[in-house]
Amino acid sequence: MATITKRDYYEVLELTRTATGEEIKRSYRRKAIEYHPDKNPGDKQAEEKFKEAAEAYDVLSDTNKRARYDQFGHAGLGGAGGGYTGEEMTMEDIFRHFGSVFSEGFGGGRFTTFTAGFGGGGQQQHYVNRGADLRVKVKLTLQEIAAGVEKKIKVRKQVACKQCRGTGAENERAYGKCPSCQGRGQIIQEVHSMFGRMQTAMECPHCGGEGKRITTKCPHCRGEGIVQDEEIITIQIPAGVADGMQVSFRQKGNAARQGGVNGDLIVVIAEDEHPELIRDQHDLIYNLILSFPQAAMGTTVEVPTLDGKVKIKIDAGTQPGKVLRLKDKGLPAVNRHGKGDLVVNISVYVPEKLSGEQQQTIAAMAQAPNFQPTNEIRVAIGSKFRNVFR
Ligand SMILES: [Zn+2]
Ligand SMILES: [Zn+2]
Repeated sequence: MATITKRDYYEVLELTRTATGEEIKRSYRRKAIEYHPDKNPGDKQAEEKFKEAAEAYDVLSDTNKRARYDQFGHAGLGGAGGGYTGEEMTMEDIFRHFGSVFSEGFGGGRFTTFTAGFGGGGQQQHYVNRGADLRVKVKLTLQEIAAGVEKKIKVRKQVACKQCRGTGAENERAYGKCPSCQGRGQIIQEVHSMFGRMQTAMECPHCGGEGKRITTKCPHCRGEGIVQDEEIITIQIPAGVADGMQVSFRQKGNAARQGGVNGDLIVVIAEDEHPELIRDQHDLIYNLILSFPQAAMGTTVEVPTLDGKVKIKIDAGTQPGKVLRLKDKGLPAVNRHGKGDLVVNISVYVPEKLSGEQQQTIAAMAQAPNFQPTNEIRVAIGSKFRNVFR
């Protein structure tokens, strides 16, 4: 068997290595449209190119995969054979994963779904309408993010008309022959290609291949098959999501015109700020400020965590800049095991005003040898500050 050398993904999408996410998407959309099976019916080579572009897009549009690919090439994507591990994508997968790219390119209109896979028993495709994707922003607290949460959200969206069950027709008899294709569902198109003139059968764009047309529209939805309505949708948000992340829910978006497949619901995560804790990826940061006596003599303090306050012991002689880590008190990673930590950064508050008496007390201690920073401390703190300001 011949060894197949994979083409460079950037080459596949005709991009430079510094291409932005938007450029990658644009280029992929162009390729996907060029090699789209609708345009190249039965063309195996176009199908391969279509899949190759999808694979390149799958990797380059994912920050993690792209970084690994940039560093190690195809081998960086793991797998025993040192190749692409996202198992060979089927056409169906491609439409499922990257459907939004096409619908943007095609104005959210007609969409192809495949009832049977490619290869093997002949390809069978049929065309269905696809509803528009629906985007909503959902605000979550850090507690909700830590545990994952079920949310009920109220959305205004297009839903199937109940009167006509989404068909747009007044009743089953309200159909006639499509005048564009005379009921055949296909129209013949002549295309000029490198092989000369060819005739291809195309799905009739007026009836979507159905061969029929509505003669009497449903009065409730004016033949659209959809109406605006409010709906309460229950969604499960996995633990560990972050601000700006998008979670897609298949077919929970807008209904399609005259029957078909719903668009997706895309939930954009907005993170509510916590009053005391700051998120740093999976870790949480708490800035603890001790008074000078607390730091000098040691104490026990309460530190907020996402599941209540915990007491921590502060040793006598704690220096500002000391960092304590509370293991696993951070946030979980999405789709991964393990949790981040709660990082406690310690500072020490120096009083800004002193009474006369306090000044005398402190002055008395000022010359004591143990009040002088040792060389070790100078070196340790010096290196911390270098880190801080770099
Ligand atoms: Zn037609
Ligand atoms: Zn209707």
